[in-house]
Amino acid sequence: MKSHVKALVVGGGAIGTSIAYHLARAGWDDVMLLERDELTSGSTWHAAGLLPLFNMSYATTHIHKYSVEFYKSLEAETGLNAGFSIVGNLRMAQTDARMDEYMLYASTAETAEVPYEWMTPAQIKERWPLVRTEDLKGAIYHPTDGYINPADVTMAMAKGARQRGVLIERKWQVDGYEWTGSDWRVTVTKMVERGGNLVPSEEQQVITAEHVVTATGNHAQRTARLLGIKMPAIPVEHQFIVTEPDPELVAYRQNGGEEHPVLRDADAKWYVREERGGWILGPYERNAPARFAYGVPDSFRADLFPLDLERIEEEYMSMIHRIPSSETVGLKDDFNGPICYTPDGNPLIGPAPGLRNMWLAEGFSFGITAAGGTGHYLAQLMVEGEAEIDMASLDPKRYGSWMTTDYAVAKNEEAYEHVYILHHPDEEREAARPLRTSPAYDRQKAAGAQFGQVNGWERPNYYAPEGFDDHAARSFRRGGWWQHAVDEAKAIREGVGLIDATAFTKHLLKGPGATAFLDWFTCNKLPKVGRINLTYALTTAGTTRTEYTIVRLAEDEYYLVSAGAWTAYDSDFLMKAIEDKIPEFGWISCHDVTTQWGVFAIAGPKSRDVLNSLIRDADPATALSNKRFPWLSCREIELGMCPVRAIRVAYTGELGWELHHPIEMQNYLWDQLRTAGEPHGLKLVGARAQNWLRQEKSYRAFGTELGRDATPLEADLPRFVDLSKDFHGKQAMADTGIRAKCVTLLIDGPADADPWGREALYDGDTKVGRLTSGGYSVAFGKSIGMGYVSPDLATPGTKLKVRMFDQLWDATITEDSPYDPRNETIRKDA
Ligand SMILES: Cc1cc2nc3c(=O)[nH]c(=O)nc-3n(C[C@H](O)[C@H](O)[C@H](O)COP(=O)(O)OP(=O)(O)OC[C@H]3O[C@@H](n4cnc5c(N)ncnc54)[C@H](O)[C@@H]3O)c2cc1C
Repeated sequence: MKSHVKALVVGGGAIGTSIAYHLARAGWDDVMLLERDELTSGSTWHAAGLLPLFNMSYATTHIHKYSVEFYKSLEAETGLNAGFSIVGNLRMAQTDARMDEYMLYASTAETAEVPYEWMTPAQIKERWPLVRTEDLKGAIYHPTDGYINPADVTMAMAKGARQRGVLIERKWQVDGYEWTGSDWRVTVTKMVERGGNLVPSEEQQVITAEHVVTATGNHAQRTARLLGIKMPAIPVEHQFIVTEPDPELVAYRQNGGEEHPVLRDADAKWYVREERGGWILGPYERNAPARFAYGVPDSFRADLFPLDLERIEEEYMSMIHRIPSSETVGLKDDFNGPICYTPDGNPLIGPAPGLRNMWLAEGFSFGITAAGGTGHYLAQLMVEGEAEIDMASLDPKRYGSWMTTDYAVAKNEEAYEHVYILHHPDEEREAARPLRTSPAYDRQKAAGAQFGQVNGWERPNYYAPEGFDDHAARSFRRGGWWQHAVDEAKAIREGVGLIDATAFTKHLLKGPGATAFLDWFTCNKLPKVGRINLTYALTTAGTTRTEYTIVRLAEDEYYLVSAGAWTAYDSDFLMKAIEDKIPEFGWISCHDVTTQWGVFAIAGPKSRDVLNSLIRDADPATALSNKRFPWLSCREIELGMCPVRAIRVAYTGELGWELHHPIEMQNYLWDQLRTAGEPHGLKLVGARAQNWLRQEKSYRAFGTELGRDATPLEADLPRFVDLSKDFHGKQAMADTGIRAKCVTLLIDGPADADPWGREALYDGDTKVGRLTSGGYSVAFGKSIGMGYVSPDLATPGTKLKVRMFDQLWDATITEDSPYDPRNETIRKDA
């Protein structure tokens, strides 16, 4: 046992072991891993070992792809065979909608270079005659996919880690963390066996570590308590059963039949693979309960829960339907173990909220598949400061401090049950809702709002007549909601619309150091008092960490507005940077005021007319004129009895204002605006129409066009980068150059569908980029998208193709802001 290390990894499952290995491989030569029991004694030992490449997330697809390639190389490095069987993976579809889902997924696979093939029912039957296919529409097949022995691959990674100098100590439990200001003092306790239980002994030590990574699996809640943070990683029960040998399968294989790929009948919610002449069935059934919400009892070690066969009866029967020969075979074995989940089903990988040099790798539900890639990309993040892929969608801070145990339990159970549902891109999940509502929620609901959820907030996606069923309206093509969004988008282009943007993240920053700090922290010029600017905070790699609208309220006072989905993520980055820079720049106070301010956006050619009738001013007729209230400025105004911080800016690219107001006056303001808007035909507008409209203006969105995998120059936003000043990440941004460039495209796509922003872009037969956003343009009457292409192609007029539903459709790169390129409508005077 060492008393000081550069990096301490806590947890010896597949994840912790891979992280230790990759940190050593990245050049950190002083890494120690502690495991409270034996390596693999957590969830890892009882995993089925499947390595599914299929994943709708771009970041996760990269992680899984890395793992599969890495595991193939491990044997050569360590001499240990991890039992990797590359049998392929066949995802079957019983419906056309499921085939649509696979075709959308195939785009993601293509952009991440994951190979796939299409198979017809006849081709499946011919290759694997035991599978019933007459009720199938087809399947997507991954030839490079397969399964591995989870314990063996973990042991191989542990051996590889040791060979690279990592010290692995078993039977040591981490019991306390204390940050000294420069490193972590970690209290560890020797664990001993007592009556079959693993219990702490009297023997304790303190280790100092510059960095700590926690990969504690089902113990995440205890880890969170020790660190004083929140983590929505709570396990759910997951079962799989193993059958006795199936005589028909045995005969088929003896006659030279090819091993079945991992079979996935998504519509029946299960996977099946061969196991010693029999079958393994793994269902993702309804009503699997969450476990260990407050910690794992000492008595639960490498243990299992009792099998609940009744719960998986439906899936069992459907396996028999799909593989009729399995009907007569008995059960040989069963596993019901804790599988860690998070509310969105993605793991928590990255810096811990509020803490320094503390890294989380928790909440893995596909941890065997994700282990290799997690180790690789997290090591990049820790050693180099950034990873090649944008890790934001996996960042632990995507959940804020509003998150509770009950929330995590409800959402994690839902995420488990949803593994095999149709992953509609317009899906909104129901559990734990409504939870965070702005005051106008009830009014919006009564007006027909169909809500989506962003960072826990309820936010109208679109409005529909009474009795409308959002669930039935979902589709991979243009859903039942599409026409409503079209009408809303048109209202903003032609009349006036009202959008609730209360979820925006807001920070108030002031003090003698504020100006110098922001000048260093963001890449654009700071605005003058009363004016606003769009700007970016960069990562150390020069890529975009956060997009801000900065409002300068006074010489040393700023109001920062950023994306609603990322409050804790933005806050953590900002607060840590301020803490670091106060000694250099002087005192700065910074508060997250997100929940104190509501925001409505009013936009459209008639928006000034609506506000004119509400504004109280010595000269109301000129109060909103270009002279007194120019574009990109901020004024404190009064709308009836509501004091409003109005910002003349509109994300829809139309004449408009953001009305930031005291949250407790929201309903008053809502009613005033609706009444004043009535004579002008004011329409309530949701986030979907807004998302389409901003693409017509080429406004990049954070999380799609803007993220940690592209610099603002690659996002083609040089007008928001002031190269004459010094700012954080500037040199790295310049050194990166332009690897790909952001463009807007008008698309002649299928008559019944628009792109979703995941599709691959082609120049002839060559893949040259990918879409990051997609939708419909009411201004041009066709599909629209934004994305990244090779820089040499990023010129207006370039003709490309976009892959949608397995066909290539014409797409033309437009000039930036194809709608109103000279910003005339936004600047329209009274
Ligand atoms: C039935 C079942 C089937 C599954 N099948 C698959 C599959 O086919 N494919 C797939 O990809 N995934 C599968 N999974 C999921 C997979 O098992 C997990 O995602 C993966 O094992 C998680 O690995 P981990 O390292 O995060 O956690 P674990 O394996 O649980 O490891 C965490 C380790 O941390 C240790 N620890 C905790 N606290 C401390 C502390 N304070 N000090 C020291 N050590 C500590 C624990 O003892 C434990 O060994 C399955 C899960 C189940 C239940």
